[in-house]
Formats: sequence, C-alpha cells, structure tokens
Amino acid sequence: MQNAVEILEWYTEAGVDEATDDSPRNFFAAPEPVKQAIPQIALPAKAAIQPNNNTISTIIAQARLLADAANSVEELEKSVREFEGCALKKTAMNTVFARGNKTAKLMLIGEAPGADEDVKGIPFCGASGQLLDKMLAAIEYNESNSYITNTVFWRPPANRNPTEEEIAVCKPFVEKHIALIDPDLIVLVGGVAAKAMLNTDQGITRLRGQRYKYRTPYKDKDYEVAIIYHPSYLLRQPVHKKITWEDLKAIREVLGARD
Ligand code: URA
Repeated sequence: MQNAVEILEWYTEAGVDEATDDSPRNFFAAPEPVKQAIPQIALPAKAAIQPNNNTISTIIAQARLLADAANSVEELEKSVREFEGCALKKTAMNTVFARGNKTAKLMLIGEAPGADEDVKGIPFCGASGQLLDKMLAAIEYNESNSYITNTVFWRPPANRNPTEEEIAVCKPFVEKHIALIDPDLIVLVGGVAAKAMLNTDQGITRLRGQRYKYRTPYKDKDYEVAIIYHPSYLLRQPVHKKITWEDLKAIREVLGARD
C-alpha cells in the first residue's frame, strides 16, 4: 500500500493528472506502421438489393403468365406459393394467401401480413385481425361468409409498408384472385390497400365513406368497392371506430340489397 501511494505521488509530481488506458502504453515504442487503406468497391446500393426496372417488368410478366394460367383459387394459391419473384419472400417465414369462404360475396383485401400472420401463414390472425373479426361480426359476417386476403403475400421486414414494386409483382395474382372469388363487394382495408388497388394518391380519410368501381383484367365486370380504416389504425386511434361503424353499416346495406 505504502509503495502504491509513493508511486502515485511520484506520478503526480511528474505531472501525470489522468489515467487514459486500462493497460499501460509504451509511449517510447516505435510507431506501428499505418495500415494501407483497402480500396472499397462502390456498390450501387439500390441495385444491390432491388431489381432494376427491366427486371421488374420481367417479373411482373412472369406473375401475369402464372395468374393467367390459374383456373381455380387452389391453382392460384399453388402458383403464389411457388413464385420466387417477390423480394419479400426471402425474408418471410410463410406465404400468407387467404382465409375464409371462397364462395363469399364479401372479399376483404388488406395491406400485408404482419408478424403473427407470417408465423401462422394466415391473414389477419393477430391483434388487428381480432378487431377486424369483431367489426365483421357486428354486421353478421365471419369466415363462413367472407373471404380475406392482402395486396402482397409475404410480410415486409419490420412491418414497413410494401413498396410499389412489391405490390406490382403481386398484383396479377390479386387481380386473378378477385376474378376467381368473384365477390359482390370488395372492401379495401386501409389506405395502403386502397392506394394499391385504386391507383390513387388520396389518403384514407378522403377515400372512406364512398363507393368505387374496380375492374380486373380477368373479368368483364365492374366490382363495387368500399374502403374502411385499417383495424391496426383503429387500435391506435379508437376515436375513428364510430365513423367506421357507419362504414360497416353501409357495407351491410350494399350486401343485403344483393341478397
Ligand atoms: N394487416 C394487414 O393488412 N393484413 C394482415 O394480414 C395483417 C395485418
């Protein structure tokens, strides 16, 4: 102890006033040679992770051919599951195709699978799905008389919105999906689905509460479309549940009128 105190006093007298390292450094040693900087090859960041426009059109054309060839929902599902053209598939655990009754008059199209959907491979099976089920139950709809799918079939990483390219490569399948289910009413769930299917830049607040027409290249028919707030938005903003109840009642009326 006495020795340690003496050494510290000696350091203090020598002008040492702070400890800089855990292990002693030899300031008299020859300097280490400076490492040569290794030249980095500049990778175009976007090109590295995203196919270019030509590739995208080729992939969309492949999806289109597969969608053209599907003669039933089962065949379409098989094609979607085997399709390797959507980048989202690389990070997803499961393909999330659809749930519900294939002969339903009501078809709902959401945005994209989330974490729970990715694990189970079932659309809208997490917290927002539970709320969606309650909303549908309030107008007497459930899995036996409705059909639910999404604009993309794989979960975007960290639940980000699907990109335009991801939506575009899945679109031929969604268009064929609609024609094969052939519902009386399509409900687009949330702003992303509305923008993707109606090619609009308008926000959900303006879009909801009105009726739209939608045409798929696979059917000579104008489909009636309604738009509702996404249940995950309603979970965060319950104040909009009231207006959504009005939208749900209007949906029930449209479907009731077709009975
Ligand atoms: N949100 C969606 O839009 N779709 C799902 O399947 C789940 C959550």
